[in-house]
Amino acid sequence: MRVSTGNTSGSDSRMFTVVIENLGVGRPRRATRQLTVPFQQLQSLLQSVALRGDRLKIISVDGQPLAAPEAAAQAPGSTGAVAAENDAPQADAGETAAAPDPVAADPLPATPSPAKKAAVAHADVPVNLYKPKDPFIGTVIDNYSLLVDGAIGRVNQITFDLSGGNLHYIEGQSIGIIPEGTDANGKPHKLRLYSIASTRHGDNVEDGTVSLCVRQLEYEKEGQTIYGVCSTFLCDIEPGAKVKITGPVGKEMLLPPDEDANIIMFATGTGIAPMRAYLRRMFEPTERAKNPEYQFAGKAWLFMGAPKTANLLYEDDLQRYLTDFPENFRYTKAISREQQNAKGGRMYIQDRVLENADEIFAMIEDPKTHVYMCGLRGMEPGIDEAMTAAAAAKGLNWAELRPQLKKAERWHVETY
Ligand SMILES: Cc1cc2nc3c(=O)[nH]c(=O)nc-3n(C[C@H](O)[C@H](O)[C@H](O)COP(=O)(O)OP(=O)(O)OC[C@H]3O[C@@H](n4cnc5c(N)ncnc54)[C@H](O)[C@@H]3O)c2cc1C
Repeated sequence: MRVSTGNTSGSDSRMFTVVIENLGVGRPRRATRQLTVPFQQLQSLLQSVALRGDRLKIISVDGQPLAAPEAAAQAPGSTGAVAAENDAPQADAGETAAAPDPVAADPLPATPSPAKKAAVAHADVPVNLYKPKDPFIGTVIDNYSLLVDGAIGRVNQITFDLSGGNLHYIEGQSIGIIPEGTDANGKPHKLRLYSIASTRHGDNVEDGTVSLCVRQLEYEKEGQTIYGVCSTFLCDIEPGAKVKITGPVGKEMLLPPDEDANIIMFATGTGIAPMRAYLRRMFEPTERAKNPEYQFAGKAWLFMGAPKTANLLYEDDLQRYLTDFPENFRYTKAISREQQNAKGGRMYIQDRVLENADEIFAMIEDPKTHVYMCGLRGMEPGIDEAMTAAAAAKGLNWAELRPQLKKAERWHVETY
């Protein structure tokens, strides 16, 4: 993402004429745009192009056509290719202007592009099949603790039978649960959302079930221990019980259909739920057998934050994926009460982000890379701070990059 080598003078007056070919997600169809930008805007433009997944060709510098105008700015190292072909001077990140958002021109005949594929996939996503006024009644078929001795709190996996209705979903969505009973005003409880932890095929890979990963909310107030209504209802529920379910909802956390995509995941606590669904879809042998159209071949990198080792969730499965798919799966843990960060403090997920900043950003430069964040809302500022510092170390501006990633549908956040 960096234009490298050569003249570092801030007073470079050359004008670069570039052609941008739209390939990125979220675009209705392929189009090309021609722009002429001063050197000072080239760095930002390159960032913007790379993050959108577009392709950039520099065709002339100061009106002089280039011999081989095929530089593409969409893969790691690709800006090196731009520099090599154009001998573009190194941009000072501090002085780059925001890239203009040029108007699309010259649309080529509509051809199926990754953008088109993603849009179709999103249109197919089921939402609100069951609403609170007429919920689906699911039956609990399993409820067990995901924690081992020595863990803090209570986190359970709860599975519901969905047979007899039309409740179906895909990875990354949530469902609503309406707990039994009434609130302090005597009114029926409102629904609470929970991220779905199973794939669309369910944990038995036979379709027709859904699993959740639920932490019992527990806090102290005026000397009393308070337990959350719905999370306690779910953690205590017995197999055979009937439960009101709504949804599914959510399009924010969907996986791209591309088998070669790279997926970076930041999870804390039950934020692992959607990631567990993704990882099962990618690596679980029964899932791979069931989905011949999705044989994941990209890189998946999970950053997991937990207070203690005993609080890590789905650890056995994750270790199995590491053994079976060493080229495709990477797993980095931040165990706050057991590990120390470089400053001698507790190790949080943002410390791991900083430690791995170079590799994370190298992956983000690739338009096939998507980043997912899920867990308690409090994790967001820490990750943002770490990404800001990590970006700055590479001469990039995270405040500019993040909206571009978001616009390109490559930055996915669900915190609660
Ligand atoms: C999209 C989405 C996905 C979610 N996915 C999951 C998931 O996968 N797993 C999961 O466990 N949860 C998940 N949640 C959270 C879940 O919806 C509930 O909010 C959670 O289970 C608590 O509900 P409850 O009924 O147990 O608590 P409630 O009885 O509703 O109590 C919650 C209320 O308690 C108060 N409170 C909470 N903590 C404190 C505190 N420390 N001090 C004082 N007051 C406090 C606040 O007023 C809060 O609104 C998700 C939420 C969203 C929006």
